[in-house]
Amino acid sequence: MTVRRFGTIPPGLPGDGPWTRSPRRRIPVGFRVTGVRRLSRSGLSGASIARGRRIGRGSRLGGCGGLVAGNPYGEFDTKKWPDGNRKSSDDMDVIGFNDLVSSKQAARRFFLDFCWKNHQRFCPRCRERKLYRVSGGRRRCSRCCYTFHDFSRRFLNSCAFDCRQWLWFLKLFELEVPPRDMAAQLRVSYPTVLKGQDIVRRAIVAQALDATLLHRAGVWAGPGGKRPESAMRDSPVFGIIDVGGVVICDTLPELTPEELLLFKCNFRLRTASFGRVVYTAPYRNYLAMACCGPSLWPTDLVRHEDKRLPLDATDFWGLVKQRLGRVRGLPPVQFPLYLKEMELRYNCRNRDLLGVLAKALCAFVPDG
Ligand SMILES: [Zn+2]
Repeated sequence: MTVRRFGTIPPGLPGDGPWTRSPRRRIPVGFRVTGVRRLSRSGLSGASIARGRRIGRGSRLGGCGGLVAGNPYGEFDTKKWPDGNRKSSDDMDVIGFNDLVSSKQAARRFFLDFCWKNHQRFCPRCRERKLYRVSGGRRRCSRCCYTFHDFSRRFLNSCAFDCRQWLWFLKLFELEVPPRDMAAQLRVSYPTVLKGQDIVRRAIVAQALDATLLHRAGVWAGPGGKRPESAMRDSPVFGIIDVGGVVICDTLPELTPEELLLFKCNFRLRTASFGRVVYTAPYRNYLAMACCGPSLWPTDLVRHEDKRLPLDATDFWGLVKQRLGRVRGLPPVQFPLYLKEMELRYNCRNRDLLGVLAKALCAFVPDG
């Protein structure tokens, strides 16, 4: 039998190694599971498969050999995510936390370390390093004359908390203390706590791998960022995938809630819901898709009541259900913020979250 080599399958995929062409078996089993012919047998039309492929290419995890978080699917290194299983030496216990909040200078230094690498200041607007000192500890850029202080244009500067208050706020946020109790403990008003929580969630979104896609989809970047032109009716559709214990909620920009309904009605995609959040059975490489919005509930006849979806069996979704179950009337525009918060909490489940949150809070607010 003549065997002719004509390509190599990327490592980590089924049947990796050299491809072989033989009279009976041209392609290794499992490699082209998303091929048009195989899917055609499952009832999908060629056009919808081609569309699915385009969607896949648009996301970071497109089909076989796609990308996740900028890495080939088979080579995604879960260690790049903050390690969820091991305690880091940087983790802070209550004694360390007490030292930080005991003085204003210590708290300020803690945040400054996240703001400026090696204490090297630069202009937040044009990145110029030649600066002049002006009164009040501020600096002025020699190129664009922008006057700024250490926390200008950062999430940290968006709320009237000082550094010590921020530290306490982050500690209570980490412990998931209800907002009313936080307000009482911090001696601030209830709306201030809600604003602080919103800023922290937007800071988390800004750190996400698909932050640009979310901002483009209409999620406001944060105070100082450009407001979206139109109000968001439905949240973006998220593809949820578990890669070695790390959950990634990936924005699928080319997929709309209407198309999700279409998949349900025409292709029998199973769906379930809690509150106004709808999630589905596995789709492509994703364990599920999730979305929130009125378009998913066009009439009373459309129901999302399928049982025992694979996502229900995961710890991550149990956590999301438990957490979002406490939020009454979750608006679709807030859903991405909560989902990204839960993604971070789950992936950092066994480590100190305070440092991760502080780092996110010290980042610049994206322009949107
Ligand atoms: Zn400048």
